[in-house]
Amino acid sequence: MTDRPSLASLGAASPFSRRHIGPSAHDVATMLEVVGQPSVEELLTAALPATIRLTGPDATLDLPPALSEPEATEQLRHLAARNRPMTQMIGLGYYGTITPPVVRRNVLESPAWYTAYTPYQPEISQGRLEALLNFQTVVSDLTGLPVSGASLLDEATAAAEAMTLARRAGKKLGTDTFVVDADIHPQTLAVLQTRAEPLGIRVLVSDLAELPDEPYFGLLLQYPGSSGALRDPSALIAAAHERGALVTVAADLLGLCLLKSPAELGADIAVGSAQRFGVPLGFGGPHAGYMAVAEKLARSLPGRLVGVSRDAAGAPAYRLALQTREQHIRREKATSNICTAQVLLAVMAGAYAVWHGPEGLRQIALRTHRMTAVLAAGLRQLPGATVATDAFFDTVRVTVPGRADDVLATAAAAGVNLLRVDADTVGVSCDETTTVEHLRAVWTAVGSDSTAFDVSGLDVSTLDVQTADAIPDTLVRTSGYLEHPVFAEHRSETAMLRYLRRLSDRDYALDRGMIPLGSCTMKLNATTEMEPVSWPEFANIHPFAPVEQTAGYGAMIGDLERWLAEVTGYDAVSLQPNAGSQGEFAGLLAIRSYHRGRGETHRDVCLIPSSAHGTNAASAVMAGLRVAVVACDDAGNVDLSDLRAKIDAHRDDLAALMVTYPSTHGVYEETITEVCALVHDAGGQVYVDGANLNALLGFAKPGKFGADVSHLNLHKTFCIPHGGGGPGIGPVAVRSHLAPYLPNHPLRADAGPATGPGPVSAAPWGSAGILPVPWVYLRLMGAEGLVAATGAAVLAANYVAARLRDHFPVLYAGTGGLVAHECILDLRPLTKSTGVTVDDVAKRLIDYGFHAPTMSFPVAGTLMVEPTESEDLAELDRFCDAMIAIRAEIASVADGTWPADDNPLVNAPHTATMVTGEWEHPYARDLGAYPAGRTADKYWPPVRRIDGAFGDRNLVCSCPAPEAFATT
Ligand SMILES: *Cc1c(COP(=O)(O)O)cnc(C)c1O
Repeated sequence: MTDRPSLASLGAASPFSRRHIGPSAHDVATMLEVVGQPSVEELLTAALPATIRLTGPDATLDLPPALSEPEATEQLRHLAARNRPMTQMIGLGYYGTITPPVVRRNVLESPAWYTAYTPYQPEISQGRLEALLNFQTVVSDLTGLPVSGASLLDEATAAAEAMTLARRAGKKLGTDTFVVDADIHPQTLAVLQTRAEPLGIRVLVSDLAELPDEPYFGLLLQYPGSSGALRDPSALIAAAHERGALVTVAADLLGLCLLKSPAELGADIAVGSAQRFGVPLGFGGPHAGYMAVAEKLARSLPGRLVGVSRDAAGAPAYRLALQTREQHIRREKATSNICTAQVLLAVMAGAYAVWHGPEGLRQIALRTHRMTAVLAAGLRQLPGATVATDAFFDTVRVTVPGRADDVLATAAAAGVNLLRVDADTVGVSCDETTTVEHLRAVWTAVGSDSTAFDVSGLDVSTLDVQTADAIPDTLVRTSGYLEHPVFAEHRSETAMLRYLRRLSDRDYALDRGMIPLGSCTMKLNATTEMEPVSWPEFANIHPFAPVEQTAGYGAMIGDLERWLAEVTGYDAVSLQPNAGSQGEFAGLLAIRSYHRGRGETHRDVCLIPSSAHGTNAASAVMAGLRVAVVACDDAGNVDLSDLRAKIDAHRDDLAALMVTYPSTHGVYEETITEVCALVHDAGGQVYVDGANLNALLGFAKPGKFGADVSHLNLHKTFCIPHGGGGPGIGPVAVRSHLAPYLPNHPLRADAGPATGPGPVSAAPWGSAGILPVPWVYLRLMGAEGLVAATGAAVLAANYVAARLRDHFPVLYAGTGGLVAHECILDLRPLTKSTGVTVDDVAKRLIDYGFHAPTMSFPVAGTLMVEPTESEDLAELDRFCDAMIAIRAEIASVADGTWPADDNPLVNAPHTATMVTGEWEHPYARDLGAYPAGRTADKYWPPVRRIDGAFGDRNLVCSCPAPEAFATT
């Protein structure tokens, strides 16, 4: 006998949940003591209402057992192997592209970029704000329209946003008709129709041989057309303007490098996708959608807009501009429900343009066009084929009577995907990745039935010499673009690497420290979860590739739908919505369709508690519902008597209640089951906003405690990184009676029920390319790991609340003084007595090396803290210590030690320039810069406090001239 450990005991690797969860067993014991609970189990029993707590066999989630990291990767490799990456010449708005490796590794695969939060704290976000300004400049230059936003969700939803923008602007025209080019991408048309129907907008599809002879508020053109055809739309645009309509051009950014810009054609709005600027296909997403508008529409732009302002020292500094800062905060008056967008992908697209510069982009566009011209010239020589497109940029249609399926099959056998338009027609699109071999494969496939013609006889050089360009003279671009120095200065890889590093070094992301943002769940985004995103088997799949090439995605989607249904207690899940906001819209549409299906079309009122996230009300309006606000009581809970009154008032027309659980106040409301029952009794449906699922997983299921539908935020609870403001996935989960009304897709019959209301995203599974993240997370954690994570998250929030309660009042708490997974610190009394604001505290936290908590949501004048399960005790303590020290600083303002207008709080954050220059403040430089003690790891903000209002008065939202940064 020996006392050495057995092989069996050594073999069992410790579960990954111990890496995902920050606090050790020892930390947990310490934290429980502070919270005053004997165990995590008992903490949850005390905090969570017994009525919703899972018990008995239900309490065990039916999920596959946890795997180690290598095992999970191995399993995923099996799924990946069932996808077939091909040369994708399908087009329809999705094209092959080469992600510059320097961008892939240093942006897409870099935690400094992907773990960042939305830049609401601009002083610590200057790097990504500059990167987004680059993106805006690219879009603005190429479209010719002066104001571009910092990304929308995809081209189709951007077109839908343009439609509603045009309608608001054209109210006085008194018409509900929106005219759409028949040569639009089919998924764009389908999304427009989904979005138009509840708003009473009539989508009139026209071949635009001439404009309809009736009033319309807007016109949408595809440029070049989905078929590839290029037409000069200037006359149509002028005619539409005559009628008072706004004109939107859905334009291809690479095409615009050679084509007259939408602005030069007369357009008011341009929309589209930046996918082919270096962002992998990913089976449809995530990619950055874009929108640019004429100056007069700047204030109506949906989504976020980055602008230039100045800091306290007068230096130029970036921040989110105008009311677009957070559109949906305007609730039912919002112009859009967009919250999470596609920031990481917009950063990539901007970086792609910086890397290539205007000449590089022009060369890629020229080469793409030449390839297409040569392709068409070869096709014209093939017997039995007719090229149906004369003027084009990168896409042609070929008529092959009765042979489309054969041609597609032959091309696929050679590794090339083409578009099947109908039985007689195929579409072919070229792109940056197209080679002469690909042209040959297409020629061979199209010419395959002919024995009389030898395709190998086609000579590319001869065709090239003999074939003219196919861009009409009137559409040839003569105006310049990307003339700002940033698009010329980073051409060597060394320079580019350093530029990207310099930008990310200006920012504070999760790779530096805690981001305690209430409602946003900034937890670990594990490396093993992230790695597969760039595997070619996931990255290089076209969203409209044949089903048999996407079996790996299919299996992964099936797994996730099943697992997410299991953990939420619902019956069916759609992964199509590409943000929480879109999941909300899809869920509300399901409710609307359900009532209509039962002949109750009059049910159109959506009750929303006053504490709700702004997207809720904005989504309700988009779904054609009228919003009625339900009050909250002093304890922050839904006011039951007001709820009863509102239900009574709307008994006949009640469609739904939309409630967040646990509430945005960070408490588990005891009355949730009663709330659900009241709504059901009145014939309404219950929508539970699932953004806070991190407080429930494994302990309660919305689908079992009374809700009919929820969206989840996979970029919160399920580890998809925030990316600085996107990407996200907002799946919608429903009980069986709503399942027939989940989103579907015209180009993928298996993407949803035939009875559904249409698609809410351009791609059948929205942001499919990042689905490996939640898949790996669930495989690594297993049921026990998820339960442990929820317990640790709730414990951490209660620990922070317990440590800070004596210094800042914790605004709301549930039974036993316990909070859920987040807590609200009330600064209003201090602000009143000392003048120190939440802003001052948030900026001072930067000096202490933290990202501020959520400011003034859901209650103005407060900070909402959500530590998540991933922060260890040392980091939680560092944060609590900083907050307590800040409280002492506030006391020094209160007692007159420091004047109200010159103290470390109002002057925060302190930059290196500031503390090494002249110093005339009534406190030491060291206290300004190193309040938590001197440390080599100090994060230095690159700018001082930013004056947002100045920038709004002087709107600049593309790259400022370098002189703006001159220091003398
Ligand atoms: C984040 C959030 C949303 C919106 O989700 P997005 O993905 O940003 O669109 C909705 N409700 C709540 C409570 C949230 O926290």
